[in-house]
Amino acid sequence: MRREVMTLCWGRWAALGALLFAVACESTTAGETALVTTFMEAAFDATPGGEFQLLGELRSARIWRWDRAVLLRLEGVRSPAQEGFARSALAEFARLSGVAINDAIAAETQNFRVIFDGSEAFLLGDGQLASCYATFRGRRDGEVTMDVTLSTARPESAQRCIRHELMHAFGFLGHSHRVRSVLSYLHNETQLTRWDKVLIASLYDPAIRAGMLRQDVAPLLQPIIAKNLARFPD
Ligand SMILES: [Zn+2]
Repeated sequence: MRREVMTLCWGRWAALGALLFAVACESTTAGETALVTTFMEAAFDATPGGEFQLLGELRSARIWRWDRAVLLRLEGVRSPAQEGFARSALAEFARLSGVAINDAIAAETQNFRVIFDGSEAFLLGDGQLASCYATFRGRRDGEVTMDVTLSTARPESAQRCIRHELMHAFGFLGHSHRVRSVLSYLHNETQLTRWDKVLIASLYDPAIRAGMLRQDVAPLLQPIIAKNLARFPD
């Protein structure tokens, strides 16, 4: 009799354990699924306009990322503090992506400009004003140059938007609002979140290359996202 009660108790605990395990698994899977969808929207569904300008090639069937070193040039009048915050944000992206960022020795070799501009704000394609914008020129499967323009009139507002623009400048040419991310207009994030770190590291996974088609990237993503969620636990 006692043994039966014990068995029943263990059975209940086992059932509860299985339920908790199932809930935990489900929530991990839901998080992975949300990030996979976010990745696909942000990497492929770029719509020209707003504070992101896509010039030269508008196809969204291909992914883009830096597959070569960034040759950086800083232009425009800026204070040491303004240059400092831009370089520190760039270093964060270099660390997460593994992309080398070197100062361009000559102007003609640069492929990435950070332009400091004294304007209070910039008039965007949709009639809104913004303190930062990014411009992509080139082809997703070829040569690309990237410009990130920052207002120096109100430095605190440029600090708030620089990581949003660097997400574009490192390959997330679109927007997504599913997860708490600097890319989302609905979440007022100014520092990279855990989800941003997972997104950047996943885009720069060795299995992904600039110019790959949407249908070739999609099946690779779930394990890549899962791996990077484990890499960035918080
Ligand atoms: Zn944007």
